[in-house]
Amino acid sequence: MDARPQPLSGNEMPRFAGPATMMRLPARGDARGLDACFVGVPLDIGTSNRPGARFGPRAIRAESVLLRPYNMATGAAPFDSLAVADIGDVAINPYDLGDSVRIVEEAYDRILATACRPLTMGGDHTIALPILRAMRRRYGPVGLVHVDAHADTNDEMFGEKIAHGTPFRRAVEEGLLDTGRVVQIGLRGTGYSAGDFDWCRKQGFRVVTADACWNVSLSPLMDEVRRQLAGGPVYLTFDIDGLDPSVAPGTGTPEFAGLTAAQGFEVVRGCRGLDVVGADLVEVAPPYDTSGNTALLGANLLYEMLCVLPGPATVGDREAPGI
Ligand code: MN
Ligand code: MN
Repeated sequence: MDARPQPLSGNEMPRFAGPATMMRLPARGDARGLDACFVGVPLDIGTSNRPGARFGPRAIRAESVLLRPYNMATGAAPFDSLAVADIGDVAINPYDLGDSVRIVEEAYDRILATACRPLTMGGDHTIALPILRAMRRRYGPVGLVHVDAHADTNDEMFGEKIAHGTPFRRAVEEGLLDTGRVVQIGLRGTGYSAGDFDWCRKQGFRVVTADACWNVSLSPLMDEVRRQLAGGPVYLTFDIDGLDPSVAPGTGTPEFAGLTAAQGFEVVRGCRGLDVVGADLVEVAPPYDTSGNTALLGANLLYEMLCVLPGPATVGDREAPGI
């Protein structure tokens, strides 16, 4: 097996043929020996409106066959320096959200016991909580770049503490976040109260609402974000509904007047230089994605995430003892 596999070329096998792994990378059974992995979490029983994100990982993989190895905008050549593969999906329990959260947590503990940095294909945003719990055990409290139309800091939904609108409230309560190193970008829409985003600000989060992003480049914002979040591990969580439904209609809780596709790229590319220990792209719901563009955009954003990861782990810390 190649230590640093390249994606299967479109000139070796037609792009519409062969197994649809993420970016046509080799499939592996686990994260051992990898610097980064793509992993799916096909869970949508935490959604509050339209379900369907359980089909997200499969649709993202299917659309990702169009991606090529080199980033023509940034010059990044991730497969030349990192060992990357697709390690498949986490076998969540489709009848039990609480049990699924436990299963995801355990799966990420196993991934993070290696030096591998996971790039996750959701799944609804509930999955950020178990991932952040595992991140906390591995790295301590992490900084967070959170792109979303929604703050996802509700206390409860239908009396439930675990749902796709609550993960970052739980994350604060459980000490998973370095709250002075958290930025939320793209928040908008209608709320339950006029002060919905105030709770976030009270925690020390930087809240950048969507209207503050209209018609401007987000590169200057990301310069500030890099300064604020430098000096510790950072997790990037990207809800596709942070983008406008005109470019990302295939999602469960769409809100209009969101970020453009280019602004989404600017945010991810602006994370280059941070110690990004993992990232996710969540809430792609293929049943509402008639063109496949939402999944294709999600695949591109996941590739951009790969392109901003730090260099490969050194041989000595590639695998933790006992793995
Ligand atoms: Mn969300
Ligand atoms: Mn959202």
